[in-house]
Amino acid sequence: MTSNQSRSSVRLELETSYENVVALCPKCTRRNVYNRASDIGHLRAIDNQGVVCQDDDCGAHFDIYGDFINAPYEILLLDSRTFLKEKRYMQAVLSATTAYELFFIHFLRVQLLYRPLRRHNDSDSDSDVDEWFNAIASSLHDETIRLTFCPMRNLFLHVAIDQKRLETLAMAEEYIKVICNDKIKAIKSRRMEDIRAEIKCLPDAPPRSLLLRVCDTNIADLRNGVVHKTAYRPSLSETKAAVEDVSQTLFQLSEHFRLKNDDYHLNERLEHL
Ligand SMILES: [Zn+2]
Repeated sequence: MTSNQSRSSVRLELETSYENVVALCPKCTRRNVYNRASDIGHLRAIDNQGVVCQDDDCGAHFDIYGDFINAPYEILLLDSRTFLKEKRYMQAVLSATTAYELFFIHFLRVQLLYRPLRRHNDSDSDSDVDEWFNAIASSLHDETIRLTFCPMRNLFLHVAIDQKRLETLAMAEEYIKVICNDKIKAIKSRRMEDIRAEIKCLPDAPPRSLLLRVCDTNIADLRNGVVHKTAYRPSLSETKAAVEDVSQTLFQLSEHFRLKNDDYHLNERLEHL
């Protein structure tokens, strides 16, 4: 290609997923599947990324665009629906469960890191604030990364029920220290009936019904059957019911808590906080 020739821009195909992006070559029409980690080399949303056609006889250079801007758990939910259509029910259950776990983590990051950061307003320089934020983010990550589905769910429910408004990074740091260290054993071992009773006392109806659905989900049990020794093969009806329940619950919770992708929250307008 000479320097005065413009490169073609190609919109990604609908099969684009959490792991791969798909684009048709503008020259030979080959359907190219690019793995984000291996072929693209990064996991950010793709916008005007240069790629090469994977057909050895073609090798055309072109740009791809039109990637998802959703939070990762939403992309996994879409993957889960695709697996359902393809009758890959084990995969559908795995994706839906991982989506739930990513949702818990995303909620905690938004409520305990991004929103306190945006509200934070004092005399610290920007670089000091960045360093402080990164240290708190790393502490939250370290304390939650090893939690399995049920303890993570308990931690999510604790923060969602508590509804503590954190105005500064100092408040966020202290809150994370308390829930991830001082209180974590008590939070992890709480009985579900006690959590349900607490949810039923919340003043507003929408979070009450949504949080009760989180208590009642059976997706982790289904996932455990799939991944453990029995390699359980779920049926269409149980997979469909589970995937629909997870999708509805997570999309409604996202709306209730106004959750979007990380970039949005790092720049969230103060009047929305
Ligand atoms: Zn090609």
